[in-house]
Amino acid sequence: PYVVCEPCINCKYTDCVEVCPVDCFYEGPNFLAIHPDECIDCNACVPTCPVEAIYPDDEVPEEWQHYIEWNRYLAEQW
Ligand code: SF4
Repeated sequence: PYVVCEPCINCKYTDCVEVCPVDCFYEGPNFLAIHPDECIDCNACVPTCPVEAIYPDDEVPEEWQHYIEWNRYLAEQW
C-alpha cells in the first residue's frame, strides 16, 4: 500500500482524496491517512500531491518509516 508521510501535515490540498478509486483516504484534523488494507497500489494519488507526501510502503524514506504504522492506526481511528 501507499503511505502518507510528514509533508501532508497541515497541507490543505485534498486532490489525492478525489482521485482515489477506492476511497481509502481518511481525513483527520490536519493529516490524511491511507488505509493499507484498502489501497490497491494504483499510484493515482502520487502525482496529485503538491508536497510529495505519498510513497509506496517499500520506498518510504528512512526518517518517515514510522508513518507506515501511523497510516494504519489513524485510518482505523477515523
Ligand atoms: Fe488510493 Fe491508488 Fe493512492 Fe492507493 S495508490 S491511496 S488506491 S489513489
